[in-house]
Amino acid sequence: MLPHEDAILNRARLFAETPIPAVERAGILLPLPLTGPYDYKLPRGINASRGMLVAAPIGPRESLGVVWGAPEGSVGDNRLKIAEPLEGQPHLPAALCDFIDWVAAYTLNPPGAILAMALRSRGAFEPEARRIAYVKGDTVPKRLSDARKRVLAVAEDGLARSVPGMAEDANVSPAVVRGLIQAGALKPTELPEFAAFRAPDPGFAAPDLNPDQSRAAQILRDAVKDKAFSAHLLDGVTGSGKTEVYFEAVAEALRQQKQVLILLPEIALTVQFLERFAARFGIRPAEWHSDLSQKERRRVYRAVMRGEAHVVVGARSSLFLPFAALGLVIVDEEHEQAFKQQDGAIYHARDMAVVRARTENCPVVLASATPSLESFVNATSGRYSHLKLASRHGIAVLPEVRVVDVRREKDGDDNAKWLSAPLRQALEQTLGAGEQALLFLNRRGYAPLTLCQACGHKFTCPHCSSWLVEHRYKRRLACHQCGYEIEAPAECPGCKEQNTLIACGPGVERVAEEFAHFFPNARYAIASSDTLHGPAETQGPIRAFAKREIDVLIGTQIIAKGHHFPQLTLVGVIDADLGGADGDIRARERTFQLLHQVSGRAGRAEKPGLVLLQTRNPNDAVMRALADSDRDGFYEQERIYRERAAAPPFGRLAAIVVSGHDGDQVREIARQLGKAAPPAKDIKVWGPTPAFYALLRGQIRERLLVQAGKGVDMQAYLRAWLAKVKIPASVRAAVDVDPISFF
Ligand SMILES: [Zn+2]
Ligand SMILES: [Zn+2]
Repeated sequence: MLPHEDAILNRARLFAETPIPAVERAGILLPLPLTGPYDYKLPRGINASRGMLVAAPIGPRESLGVVWGAPEGSVGDNRLKIAEPLEGQPHLPAALCDFIDWVAAYTLNPPGAILAMALRSRGAFEPEARRIAYVKGDTVPKRLSDARKRVLAVAEDGLARSVPGMAEDANVSPAVVRGLIQAGALKPTELPEFAAFRAPDPGFAAPDLNPDQSRAAQILRDAVKDKAFSAHLLDGVTGSGKTEVYFEAVAEALRQQKQVLILLPEIALTVQFLERFAARFGIRPAEWHSDLSQKERRRVYRAVMRGEAHVVVGARSSLFLPFAALGLVIVDEEHEQAFKQQDGAIYHARDMAVVRARTENCPVVLASATPSLESFVNATSGRYSHLKLASRHGIAVLPEVRVVDVRREKDGDDNAKWLSAPLRQALEQTLGAGEQALLFLNRRGYAPLTLCQACGHKFTCPHCSSWLVEHRYKRRLACHQCGYEIEAPAECPGCKEQNTLIACGPGVERVAEEFAHFFPNARYAIASSDTLHGPAETQGPIRAFAKREIDVLIGTQIIAKGHHFPQLTLVGVIDADLGGADGDIRARERTFQLLHQVSGRAGRAEKPGLVLLQTRNPNDAVMRALADSDRDGFYEQERIYRERAAAPPFGRLAAIVVSGHDGDQVREIARQLGKAAPPAKDIKVWGPTPAFYALLRGQIRERLLVQAGKGVDMQAYLRAWLAKVKIPASVRAAVDVDPISFF
């Protein structure tokens, strides 16, 4: 953390500790994008403190609000409205309030907008509804049919059941159950609305750890016992057993009666993770992500706030949950871009997880096989402890990585467009030996571009600057930015010719087509996020592969992580050159991370693996580092490159994206912003220029980029700058501090 970031945190704390005077007046923050807390009166005799939940009138409505601090004081008592404390509710924990202030200040968002993310479970503060269920009553009717006897036999166990539940268990109609209720043979009882969370058992299935793992686990257990902030990078190749190690820290936190937050980059990964957790701790942890029902969210939220949910596994938004006693934060796959929230308040969940751990005074563990350069530099410079797991758990052999120069490997077979001769040979050997292979291409659909051979017409999205991607199985062309879809047309909309449309470049569907041509007898499946809908369905082809029901899995990055396939010995990367956009400082790092991760899938059991990287740039630094298994060499080179360019983490970046429906207005505001940039030492402002997606979901977008030295207070600079330009309501100027991609 940088010095001025400490200052932000201290300001937030100072504010929090200012005593709220006994005039029964307080600053109350509403979950709305207002500038800050507003003064309200509180009913006499209320002892207000930070985090107390209230119902606050605003205009004709009432809003949930939180006592935030001392009143501002400029508005007279008689003009203040009264906020009523919510009865029987725990307070929002003070550490969460501090965290909200911190995130707001850092990301330049109104604190109320961040509070809204922390109060996102609708109805969580309403009194819990009770359910009526039935147990055996005191009277027994004189006449008993067989059906009635069955019901009473079922009720003998004393468990409370609903009418349909009782009917089902006794295999009778609900009318029989209702008859018994009327006769008094079953009596009503009240149950809480939500089932309780059981505590995971830290001793359920403790693993045998190798020496590397034991050492790392001991350091993490000690950190949890310390009950103080510390940051750790758990750094180990795929299969080195990182999860087992941080599970030991989770076990320690459970023994200390503390709660644990585990952040995962994607919901798709949670399904398998939950099972793994249950195998270690006896039960599943609580989940928090956008796929949960409203009711389930309410249940988890309340349980987290009351300290009853012990371990929560979640996506980015779980960072804002009101933990009563958080004792450990874990960020798995910490290098993943998915941790960056790009809509609404823009923040990086990994960085904010470190901040949350600081405000909670507990350790944070970042785990990855290919850490972000930021975390790698923090670890090698000693700011984070660096826990390296060198050996592969159970086996010693890393896969052999071979670079295939596709410019040289021209072969005589005209049907071979995407599978080079060396890759086809390797596939033949692997399948012949009864082993499995994975073909990786990070492109969904059949072809990334469709164009007309006759007139050159390209199919583009009307709402975004992007091409429409052909999905041949669905017979549709789709925009991967906004979801716009059309049926694949029979004639060209440009020249009205029939049958002139051709697919350019490969997507996974097209690779699968070519694979099927060369290997007609092999069993294969495609795994990519658009053939699959929910996290459960994602698992279909992947499970089939794990069970050896198929020989070859062809997929996008969805197959790159989190899975264990003991019979997988060959990985073919169809296009290793598919990196990020030019000029993106993180493009090389990302390409390396993804390819390294995919390569790590090969040869995880006793059998050595082979990885073939098809490329047009065999001498590229990324390809060489992969072929030589020189991960740290790559990081060192990347570190020097970034340091020279004063790029993060050796300098600071921020972007302002100006967007709106009226292109002229957007460009004008962007131009005014560009002119208004205050000159300052060690700060450069670039732009405005059209953003990478100059059109996105119907919005015209212009971008300004700020590059600053490491010691610069970026937030103060941006605040002063933005205050100079009046931005109309029809235009949005979104601030992205520490942007990770330039879209
Ligand atoms: Zn679109
Ligand atoms: Zn045409």
